[in-house]
Amino acid sequence: MTTKRDYYEVLGVSRNASDDEIKKAFRKLAFKYHPDRNCDDGAEAKFKEINAAYEVLSDANKRSTYDQFGHSGANGFFTRGSEGFDFGGFGNIFDAFFNGMTGTGRRAPRRGTDLHYQATISFEEAAFGGEKEIKIKRTEVCPPCHGTGARPGSQSSQCPGCHGTGQVRQVERSLFGRFINTTVCPQCQGEGKVITEPCLQCRGSGREKHQRRISVKIPPGVNDGTQVRLSGEGEAGTRGGSLGDLYVTLSVLEHELFIRDGDNILYELPVNFAQAALGTEVEVPVLEGKTRLNIPAGSQTGKTFRLKDKGIAHLHRNGRGDQIVRLFVATPESLTKEQRRLFQELAGTMDTAKKKG
Ligand SMILES: [Zn+2]
Ligand SMILES: [Zn+2]
Repeated sequence: MTTKRDYYEVLGVSRNASDDEIKKAFRKLAFKYHPDRNCDDGAEAKFKEINAAYEVLSDANKRSTYDQFGHSGANGFFTRGSEGFDFGGFGNIFDAFFNGMTGTGRRAPRRGTDLHYQATISFEEAAFGGEKEIKIKRTEVCPPCHGTGARPGSQSSQCPGCHGTGQVRQVERSLFGRFINTTVCPQCQGEGKVITEPCLQCRGSGREKHQRRISVKIPPGVNDGTQVRLSGEGEAGTRGGSLGDLYVTLSVLEHELFIRDGDNILYELPVNFAQAALGTEVEVPVLEGKTRLNIPAGSQTGKTFRLKDKGIAHLHRNGRGDQIVRLFVATPESLTKEQRRLFQELAGTMDTAKKKG
């Protein structure tokens, strides 16, 4: 046991600090150094020190004894353990600040956190499915200690906070008398044992951050916003809890030629006036490449053709959507002299035709 620091110094308050100031200072420090949040070396010791200081300074009687006699007085009065730390008030403090978090819930294994990731895929990947590699950062179980946090081969020792029972009792005095509360020992989280030699790799946390490459299978037919779940690829659980899941939300890029409509794709096919009037065979792009399409003579803007099974795969079932080709007659924006003459000539015949009809 090293020399004890002055309790006022531990909490960072002056000797004549009010109860409120002491409480505030304690709250701030307890949250900062709480072992659940702070995995730094020495955070746990610091947390205990803070609690010991608060245990004394928050009690008017203990505080006045401490003011008069210092640690020797406080120790003489309040310390039961041989370590020199008084854990008697620990549960009390826990209840006051981590209300509802104590109790049996703390002992239970906790499932790992689910992770969420956004991946961008091409229009074709959405249509036909594929495999995408993504990089994620996640917390995993430390391999050498298997998540126990103890150095491999080291022995754990009985928890000094609860003497191995995993529970601490607290006596609360109030206007109505004394209450005895039993809570899970915060020092060992109800295990009854504490690590004596922390694992060197994870420094006792039992967990490690890793950067991982994960291959995500994209089923054919996914849409923008589709979520793919990878079971067990999330973060490691604590206390033997199961792994979390990884959710990958897909964002599908637009295609420069096609517009998706459910599992169908739309394509606008430009033809010139002559092609539309005379009929022709044109090349039409499809997802897999090209196909030929016959345009009958006299086709109008807005005429549609259906290319069966050339659309997007149906998600989770067989078959595909269609490609809808919509024709539009593109009017030339500029004409050569020759074209202009021909159009004028043509216009003359068409005017006549109209008058006749
Ligand atoms: Zn304990
Ligand atoms: Zn480890």
